Amino acid sequence: MYEHDVIVVGAGGAGLRAAIAADEAGADVAMVTKLHPVRSHTGAAEGGINAALREADSWEDHAYDTMKGSDYLGDAPAIETLCKDSPYEVIQLEHWGMAFSREEDGRVSQRPFGGLSFPRTTYAGAETGHHLLHTLYEQVVKRGIEVYDEWHVLNLAVTDEERPEDRTCHGVVAYDVATGELSGFKARDGVIIATGGPGQAFDHTTNAVSCTGDGQAMAYRAGVPLEDMEFIQFHPTTLPSTGVLISEGVRGEGGILYNAEGERFMFERGYANNDGELASRDVVSRAELTEVNEGRGIEDEYVHLDMRHLGEERILDRLENILHLAEDFEGTDGIEEPMPVKPGQHYAMGGIETDENGETCITGLYAAGECACASVHGANRLGGNALPELIVLGKRAGYHAAGKEMEPAKVETGKRGEYELAEIDSPVELGEGGSPGDAVADGGAVAAGGSTDPETLIEETVAAERRRIDELLTKEEGIHHSEVRSKVQETMTQHVNVFREEEGLKQALRDLREARDEYQNVKVMDPSQTFNTDLLQTIETQNLLDLAEAITVGALARKEFRGAHWRAEAQERKDDEWLKHTMLSWNDGSPELWFRPVILEGENKTYEPKVRSY
Ligand SMILES: Cc1cc2nc3c(=O)[nH]c(=O)nc-3n(C[C@H](O)[C@H](O)[C@H](O)COP(=O)(O)OP(=O)(O)OC[C@H]3O[C@@H](n4cnc5c(N)ncnc54)[C@H](O)[C@@H]3O)c2cc1C
Repeated sequence: MYEHDVIVVGAGGAGLRAAIAADEAGADVAMVTKLHPVRSHTGAAEGGINAALREADSWEDHAYDTMKGSDYLGDAPAIETLCKDSPYEVIQLEHWGMAFSREEDGRVSQRPFGGLSFPRTTYAGAETGHHLLHTLYEQVVKRGIEVYDEWHVLNLAVTDEERPEDRTCHGVVAYDVATGELSGFKARDGVIIATGGPGQAFDHTTNAVSCTGDGQAMAYRAGVPLEDMEFIQFHPTTLPSTGVLISEGVRGEGGILYNAEGERFMFERGYANNDGELASRDVVSRAELTEVNEGRGIEDEYVHLDMRHLGEERILDRLENILHLAEDFEGTDGIEEPMPVKPGQHYAMGGIETDENGETCITGLYAAGECACASVHGANRLGGNALPELIVLGKRAGYHAAGKEMEPAKVETGKRGEYELAEIDSPVELGEGGSPGDAVADGGAVAAGGSTDPETLIEETVAAERRRIDELLTKEEGIHHSEVRSKVQETMTQHVNVFREEEGLKQALRDLREARDEYQNVKVMDPSQTFNTDLLQTIETQNLLDLAEAITVGALARKEFRGAHWRAEAQERKDDEWLKHTMLSWNDGSPELWFRPVILEGENKTYEPKVRSY
């Protein structure tokens, strides 16, 4: 068994920043990650990092834009923390040597981005995430922080008191991809989950194959509620054949969207009379799909994004990476012709419920980055607001886990304070299914066997994971997990997309139930003990099943149109009824739905919901 003060699971932007902070606070910190840190998906981020750096700008304006962008579902204390701390964190990155794009006078450049009232998106060409990841990883190397890379975390070692709020997390269990060794990692002070989003629940996504939401599924099964899972962002400019992202930076620099009739539809069809292409992402995605659905799409599928008028020099200076992506993945030369684009799954606004210090309701368990939901994005994330979340909230989680004194959080977690229980209107049984105590069916959640002694608990969790792996590897006959995964991705893309309606959502739950039952018969085809990606992907598929179900349950429950969540039956925002977060607890395998009120009271003002127009 390995032992450290703080264990960070995941080494993308959030995990790296958390580890640096925990190290700064004096902890012995280690990172456990299924990919080498610089292969993490943060490296794909293109457009930039929002921070109110200029005198004419302010964190208050950034907070206002973010609350409006969230369609008033963000929690004000979390949003204000994000916007206040972001400038300091960007300057810190600059001091660590991040290669930001600059103005002639040497200042860090900032570009306009959707939904922002000021050009406040700092960037490094169209490769911001790549530079961010390398800058942070350099600091990790410099500080000698231990990295267990290509160790795939399978489960958390959490005590099993009845109420999640009484449980404690003592460590994790991970599988060494190179040797097949299964080992416990004891965390004396805290475990920080920073495992990224669940994009692979959909089949047209900008997310890498590694984005399987593992940490979200593990935390959910350990008892932490998942919050606002129905809010999935569909980015308006992805390449039709692959889902590869064409950054919002293109529209920020002046790129224009056209339909098949050559109309600049964002203005000409009245979708966003002020901001046009730079309206918030949910608005632009719905506009594009409406154009296609009403017969004004190109090849009945996509629209055009044109940047030719920006000129070769500016494109090469600011958007060179976009030229390569369009050429390599779609065969389009962005200097000579418009690029085909359509909406694709891009980001999960919801996730593991945390407060502004990254703490979950389980003692010793933290989360940061895309996997977490401190509620800084609410119903819709503004472009350029995810990377600040990594560096601001990642750092806070690292400090808190390492025991640094912090201001108490204002956002409550777990079933504390005000909440309301609700029924789930599902046509099928949800959750675990399978036979009780079956290690495959419950993802090892019944591992613990009641121990509270940390070492015994971790050993029991290792043993349960060993049983799960043996069961998957030794099954005589069965289906390949990819059949189950395809079913999940297809139903999610068909029914839980930009436009949602009740019968489609119910059909998705039926399909997911079927997929879950089929999962009982999965067999890992590759019997190897080393580099067994078939085994690991089979386990990831189970995570996707749990998360796809959570997304769909939330979407079915929320009978209103807010941010990225549109419902055919209720095409308006209903503030009287729905200014509340959707919470889903695993509840030992029978999911439980409940709601918690949104916090609109900020430090100096209350953010009164207004009509959201751009
Ligand atoms: C194409 C693209 C472009 C984007 N551009 C921008 C942008 O310009 N600006 C912006 O603000 N946002 C952008 N975003 C969003 C933003 O980049 C992501 O939300 C963010 O980078 C996620 O960072 P993370 O640290 O939470 O997760 P990731 O970077 O995905 O890292 C997850 C880490 O967890 C590890 N991990 C996962 N599961 C396990 C496991 N079971 N065991 C061990 N380790 C595990 C992985 O190895 C990895 O190290 C973009 C997103 C995409 C997809």
